[in-house]
Amino acid sequence: MKVPKHPTLIRRFLTARQKQFQANGPILAASLVTIRRRCGNPNCHCQQGEKHPGHYLTWKHKSKTHTVYVPTDLVDQVKEWTQEHRRLKKLAQEMTQLTLALIKTHVTERRRRQPKS
Ligand SMILES: [Zn+2]
Repeated sequence: MKVPKHPTLIRRFLTARQKQFQANGPILAASLVTIRRRCGNPNCHCQQGEKHPGHYLTWKHKSKTHTVYVPTDLVDQVKEWTQEHRRLKKLAQEMTQLTLALIKTHVTERRRRQPKS
């Protein structure tokens, strides 16, 4: 996103994002990762060959990393929930940039509207 210079345009950009800033379902502030593990069965092929892939969610809470196993039939849904979080996070970052731009243009705008007498 390129931040516009004119406050009218900035406000228009902001309004458009405010309208999109609504969760379309559950949101998950976590990363979905695939981890390959050995199952523990000494006769299983994974002891020598390819390990079993499994899906996990990792997230940070109070600077500690947490992990939870995601059952295969939930993976697609979990993916949507994490994507929804990413979408809202991106919008929040863009709105922050735009609001900061609004603050920066405030002084110039005020000068333009109230010329020195
Ligand atoms: Zn195995």
